[in-house]
Amino acid sequence: MIDFKVSSLPVSLFSICTEAGISIIENKDVNELRQGESGVSVKQGDNWYIIIEDTEILQRQRFTIAHELAHILLGHEMRSGYYTRRENMVKSDDETEADMFAARLLAPACVLWGINAQTAEQIASVCNISREAAKIRAERMETLRKRGKFLTSPLERQVYQQFESYIKNNRL
Ligand SMILES: [Zn+2]
Repeated sequence: MIDFKVSSLPVSLFSICTEAGISIIENKDVNELRQGESGVSVKQGDNWYIIIEDTEILQRQRFTIAHELAHILLGHEMRSGYYTRRENMVKSDDETEADMFAARLLAPACVLWGINAQTAEQIASVCNISREAAKIRAERMETLRKRGKFLTSPLERQVYQQFESYIKNNRL
């Protein structure tokens, strides 16, 4: 969020990908995805491409793009020449990390706390993510709230500052 100067929700994945030089391609144009794949990322030469299953709901597409961004930006090891996201796959550490990255990028805890978004409905709508993902995030927020664990790290405070005017104008 800091590297790409994200300062409002919903996070624009298009802007991040453009800035990172990553192209997003709809599967209907290339027909490369296998059965059950929501998205893959492939590198050709110096260029990264994320191929996205465009028949899935936009909110899931957003999570898939964020998940693929995690693999690319965190430099995960490519096991079969590309990264993938599929339904019900056995989750390796990299897969869990990519999901966590996606949730934190799309629904940053300190910002949700700042605007007082608490319910899954609120989080889904503010972040433009699925109800399913929002529900998991809402439960996580509840835990963090109970522990009073917000703005404890310098990086989180920096993100919060970046969002200052968004938070001021979007409190629920
Ligand atoms: Zn993955």
